[in-house]
Amino acid sequence: MIKIQDSPVSKITLDSRDFYVKRDDLVDKYLAGNKYRKLYALLQAPSSSLNKIISYGGTQSNAMLAIAAMCKDKGWEFVYYTKPINQTQKYDNCGNYFHSIRLGMKHIEIKEEFYKNYIASLRGNLQDKTFIIDQGGAVLEAQEGLEVLAEEIRKDNLESKSLATPSGTGTTALYLALSLPEYKVYTTPCVGDVDYLKKQMNALHKIPDNLIILEPEKKYHFAKPYLEFLEIQKKLLSVGIEFDLLYAPAMWKALLEQTDEEIVYIHSGGVTGNESMLKRYKRKVFRGALK
Ligand SMILES: *Cc1c(COP(=O)(O)O)cnc(C)c1O
Repeated sequence: MIKIQDSPVSKITLDSRDFYVKRDDLVDKYLAGNKYRKLYALLQAPSSSLNKIISYGGTQSNAMLAIAAMCKDKGWEFVYYTKPINQTQKYDNCGNYFHSIRLGMKHIEIKEEFYKNYIASLRGNLQDKTFIIDQGGAVLEAQEGLEVLAEEIRKDNLESKSLATPSGTGTTALYLALSLPEYKVYTTPCVGDVDYLKKQMNALHKIPDNLIILEPEKKYHFAKPYLEFLEIQKKLLSVGIEFDLLYAPAMWKALLEQTDEEIVYIHSGGVTGNESMLKRYKRKVFRGALK
């Protein structure tokens, strides 16, 4: 069984500012960060209540890896649908895809032109003990795990009443803000723009007033290598904590540029993807910066 206990809090100083970091990255090697929180309700379910999980999305997704780890732990079959995967990635011996396959994930590629309809049809003839997890773990069940995180944050009783966590689907930031109305919750969109993020959040729940979406000063495309992301990730590493390269750098940048109070940063995990992402950085133009 994956061990479930409260995550610790670290304190770091970055650009002469103090931050707390809620270390959800330390929960488990593969099932960590906000994916652990989002899967919490399913993790509580008895193994016998399900026998198969279906999900879909990106081939380097952190959610995919977390679900694979959960299914291995529970003895559930895990079927994951994606658009066709590129060959470099398929035979790579690191990264989330590699680890998920090793954990027993069954991967099915759907041709680009059929993908959307295929995914839409998945719910059509579901068997009894099969559960579908939408892309990125954006499910209503996520609320339960984020309430548990909220309770831990209350118990941590830090003097700061501002939290921060970056958004993909926005599920984490939204449920966190709803569970902690007495806190301010900062987030920033890492996939798409502010309007897209608001749309996704509104599909789950009305956005509360204590949730503050910081607009990035520059437009970034998701999962593309950016020199400034690498630099901020290295700076964080030098003060003692490894963060992911897809989401965290944009959030840290926005916090440093647009806020000035003491903040509790919720570490959303995702560091298992860094190895393959760093390979991409190396293949790009940033060789010098990696020395
Ligand atoms: C999935 C993920 C996010 C985005 O979470 P959402 O709930 O989809 O907004 C942020 N950071 C990391 C490291 C993630 O893995």
